[in-house]
Amino acid sequence: MHTKRFLTGTIAFLFLISSACSPQPGPAEQVSGPDLIVLNADVRTVDSTTTHAEAFAVTAGKFVAVGSSGDIRDLARENTEIFDAGGVTVIPGLIDGHTHLVGGSELAVGVDLSQIENKNDWLRIIREKAASLPDGEWIIGGAWDHNLSDGILPTKEMLDAVAPNNPVLLEDIDGHTSWASSLAIELAGITADTPIPPGGEIVVDPVSGEPSGIFKEGASSLFRGTRGLAEAYDVKAGIKAAVKLANNLGITTVHDMSENFDVFLSVLDDGDLTLRVWQGARPPRGSEAEPSDIFADMSQERHRIRKHVAALEQTESMGTLFDIGYTKLIIDGVLSVHTAMMKEPYSDDPHTEAEPFVTKDRLNAMISAAHEYGFPVAVHAIGDRGVSWVLDGFAESNARPGGLANRIEHIEVVTPDDVERFASLGITASMQAHHATCCVGNYVIDRVGRDRLPNAYVWRQMLDSDVDLVLGSDWPTSPFDPLIQMADTMHRETRIDGVVRPWDEGNTLTFEEALYGYTQAGANMTSWADEIGSITVGKWADFVILDERVPENVGRQLEERQVTATYLAGRRVYPR
Ligand SMILES: [Zn+2]
Repeated sequence: MHTKRFLTGTIAFLFLISSACSPQPGPAEQVSGPDLIVLNADVRTVDSTTTHAEAFAVTAGKFVAVGSSGDIRDLARENTEIFDAGGVTVIPGLIDGHTHLVGGSELAVGVDLSQIENKNDWLRIIREKAASLPDGEWIIGGAWDHNLSDGILPTKEMLDAVAPNNPVLLEDIDGHTSWASSLAIELAGITADTPIPPGGEIVVDPVSGEPSGIFKEGASSLFRGTRGLAEAYDVKAGIKAAVKLANNLGITTVHDMSENFDVFLSVLDDGDLTLRVWQGARPPRGSEAEPSDIFADMSQERHRIRKHVAALEQTESMGTLFDIGYTKLIIDGVLSVHTAMMKEPYSDDPHTEAEPFVTKDRLNAMISAAHEYGFPVAVHAIGDRGVSWVLDGFAESNARPGGLANRIEHIEVVTPDDVERFASLGITASMQAHHATCCVGNYVIDRVGRDRLPNAYVWRQMLDSDVDLVLGSDWPTSPFDPLIQMADTMHRETRIDGVVRPWDEGNTLTFEEALYGYTQAGANMTSWADEIGSITVGKWADFVILDERVPENVGRQLEERQVTATYLAGRRVYPR
């Protein structure tokens, strides 16, 4: 822990001379001060030259001074809004390094049951949602996990009791199972005799012989086209709700992995994209076209989008809010269902060998074509063999379009020799802490065994090996709340043998490291590294006010802190 340096006097006082080109300010300029000043705060700047400050000033959406309360107060003029923070912590706008906004939008407009253990709490939330909607309107969302509660699949009767007049259709946390109410099943015209799509299953109540409300895999598609359902899934409304939710949680930038670019542009045109979205474009699913043809098309699309965004007034006054920044590829699956590619057999299923999603040659060809067309590459790789393959691909083609590093997403298991390759190749590790704390004791130990556990979720090993580490959520598979995700990196607690306890504490991070991973580290992966990510003179004034001061050596308690206000380019976006 370093000692706190409060900045006082003129030495630490930084002031951007914005009128450098007009040395003789006119009378109007002499009387006008900053638009906003924040005083008496515990400012964690995430700027290595001045890590702590008490106050800062904002003009025209940018930080123009950072320093002591006394010095910043002196800048105030009649036009200046003054905010006395009363000693609470203020941090840069948070940057989530891995989101699926469109995937999560259903939870944002519908109900979000993720991480909730008690089924009665699920039902309370659904009842409240029903009360807020007109009769007949669908309730969607879900992200429920019966394994967190009693392990028993829920039934349609539970939904009928709390939302009798609204059809309900809720996906589970993995997206493989749907839970529907009687009204939803009736509207979709499904009975026990309905032919089941291949690979699907309609769970039937053993007593009544009727559908129980649970539809597995392809059987969920039976609801497609049901009256009113498509409207409930309106992507534009969903993105707007997801953006609001992000702002409520202190998030001002995301590295997103959604598609629907035109819907994002339309939200932007409406003035509702109060979030900087660094979008990872995915090649068309299942396309077998030549990699260079795929990326030639994608680069045209990127050109069209950049032109649209550049022409907007908001880009001038708030900085870029939407860009196609990189491409997202995928090599393997997940540990939970044994689809992550491992170097050695799964401990609990030695005969299963996970297949790569594409061949090694295809992966390498896609990486080099992406580079040729100026896309930095992010690849989803969870198992240690998957990670190794992607590193091999980057060893073959490791261009840095726009000076931006390539990256691997998730990296749930990685061997020490490959950690060294991250460092030598300059590949960024993009990791999500809650995937560890939720699941190590739940199934990861079963899959990889205790011997390989030291290779799992190696956040500190990455930092100690000089690898750039970007943190994020992978929302909606994991909580969107960055304070929960950052707390996870500090406590590393999981339920092992029925007891919640830390494991492999050598891999925990400090608050400062976690905050860096959720701010400047994410900025460094975008073309906005000098514009966002820290409270620094000249950067866009993206910042977050917390409800209390974060104590030294904070740990799990960080997740109890609340965001009281979020600002994007000096404008308050939460509360609105
Ligand atoms: Zn993801």
